[in-house]
Amino acid sequence: MKRIYLDNAATTMLSGEVLQEMMPYLTSIYGNSSSLHSFGREAVNGVDTARDKIASYLGAKSNEVFFTSGGTEANNWAIRGVAYANIKKGKHIITSQIEHHSILDTCKQLEKEGFEVTYLPVDETGLVSVSALLHEIKPTTTIVSIMAVNNEIGTIQNIKAISEIVKFYGAYFHVDAVQALGAFPLNVDELGVDLLSISAHKIHGPKGTGALYIREGVKINKFMLGGEQEMNRRGGTVNVAGAVGFGKAIELNSRDMQFKDKKMFELSSYFIKKVEYEIPDIKINGNQLQKANSIVSVTFDGVEGENLIMLLDLKGIAVSTGSACASGSLEKSHVLKAIGLSDEQVRGTVRFSFDTSITKDDIDYTVRVLAEEVEKLRKFSPLKQKKKGN
Ligand SMILES: *Cc1c(COP(=O)(O)O)cnc(C)c1O
Repeated sequence: MKRIYLDNAATTMLSGEVLQEMMPYLTSIYGNSSSLHSFGREAVNGVDTARDKIASYLGAKSNEVFFTSGGTEANNWAIRGVAYANIKKGKHIITSQIEHHSILDTCKQLEKEGFEVTYLPVDETGLVSVSALLHEIKPTTTIVSIMAVNNEIGTIQNIKAISEIVKFYGAYFHVDAVQALGAFPLNVDELGVDLLSISAHKIHGPKGTGALYIREGVKINKFMLGGEQEMNRRGGTVNVAGAVGFGKAIELNSRDMQFKDKKMFELSSYFIKKVEYEIPDIKINGNQLQKANSIVSVTFDGVEGENLIMLLDLKGIAVSTGSACASGSLEKSHVLKAIGLSDEQVRGTVRFSFDTSITKDDIDYTVRVLAEEVEKLRKFSPLKQKKKGN
């Protein structure tokens, strides 16, 4: 049977070139990068080369890049570390309603610990309200955290405009750039960010590896307590092979970025046109002018998204309702709610996320199966019948 993976926003396949680069560090180069002997030095070399690659990609200095266990840890660290290190300035944090759970759950916990958090609303395309930010930011705000690209609908925020406001008020600006990493070039100075989270496995690197960029001079506490690794900023034996793989993945990402983005644009436009042509009563979510080309969120009226996902899975097509973390739970997407979808629309929404390995044939097959299954589901949908009865 055909197998088509359209869940690249959840994770991507490890690239062969990345694996090749990691291999020595999973086998013969097994030293602890904290050790002073030659085994340790070999490991340090691998880690530092990777750090240099990531720093150069971000336009940062190498001593501003810290390896973590992923995007989640980087996000936890940024918010919690800055909130507590700057408590004398104030206890106010600003973020948005559509952030990843690693930001939202950290903020909710900080509220329990006595901090005040403002969750900025977004418009119906998922753009954060800049005027709301202007209204809410105050002298006691220590950190503003806004994601660059939303993982469910792909909307790209006006990071530079937000950064200007945050700087004017003297707060730190953190950006969750996990989904942005593969979507467009990231330069920390151009974007005007103080902290930035990235993750390897969303760009064909290994799972369990990420990094936090921390601009020199930013006041931030340690998050992972333990040893003096990572310039005494993050305790724990460094995931040497993971770091090496991340470095390679980011190098390939910048090499292939233009080609990738062009291809992703062609694929997703082709998909959207075809879906719109073949299937009635659908809605494409997100901001069509400011959107990552790899993510397409579609609401199918009168369809239970989870049923659709299972039917597609039986035909070898892998998609998801939204974030990987939320699927399987009964909690409905906070992102789709924030852009104003009704509960019924939220339940009928499916995310398709592409990669360069997808072909037009794959899309033709996917849309054909989609059209069949959506029609079947609608025929038997209690929602649809209720509507007809009205
Ligand atoms: C995947 C993702 C994360 C979490 O990264 P992990 O490395 O999986 O912990 C954070 N933010 C966004 C926007 C993501 O898509």
